[in-house]
Amino acid sequence: MNAPAPLVLLVEDEPQMRRFLRVALEGSGHHFLEAATGQEGLTLAASHRPQVILLDLGLPDMDGLELTQRLREWCATPIIVLSARGQEADKIGALDAGADDYLTKPFSTGELLARIRVALRHERPGEEDAPLFTLGRWRVDLARRQVFVGEEEVHLTPLEYKLFTTLVRHAGKVVTHQQLLREVWGGVPGAQPLYLRVYMTQLRHKLEEEPSRPRYLQTEPGVGYRLKIEG
Ligand code: CA
Repeated sequence: MNAPAPLVLLVEDEPQMRRFLRVALEGSGHHFLEAATGQEGLTLAASHRPQVILLDLGLPDMDGLELTQRLREWCATPIIVLSARGQEADKIGALDAGADDYLTKPFSTGELLARIRVALRHERPGEEDAPLFTLGRWRVDLARRQVFVGEEEVHLTPLEYKLFTTLVRHAGKVVTHQQLLREVWGGVPGAQPLYLRVYMTQLRHKLEEEPSRPRYLQTEPGVGYRLKIEG
């Protein structure tokens, strides 16, 4: 690794979880900083400027949604929410408040490291503005608004294109239903998750080799969609 080791801040009240994550992250070349409460997390985020923040939704002094909102008032650092099953509403709330991704407990070290890589990739300035995006056999020329599978150009309708490129801009990360409806449909009244399902089905038929078993255009049940870029 040529770049300096990234600093990861964990905000989590369970000591066992902190220990697990410390071992996983230090063992894979990250610097690691931990906080047991939301307040402590805010203080450490301000004083140490981590490159990624991992944030447990159920904290003793504030919930993850509030913590995300307070961080987003001054800080653009990627936030990955750690949620337990049954925290669906809070998870979606945190994502809509500006968190970048989530992991549902229990998760593997491999999953965690993959999500951190994605978060760090997006943090590097400039990369997101590249006019050309490639993934497997897909090539998207954002400047010319063209999409290719292999050598063949695929014609997408304006809404399909907008939906697809919104996922491309957030490649690797979950994008919530609300985010997609806002970015693609511009908050048109009556736009709803059902639209998304219809358009996503169309996109999969045009782009995926096996539309019923999509490799890249993945559903995140109850939350939204993700353009999967690794694993
Ligand atoms: Ca907790």
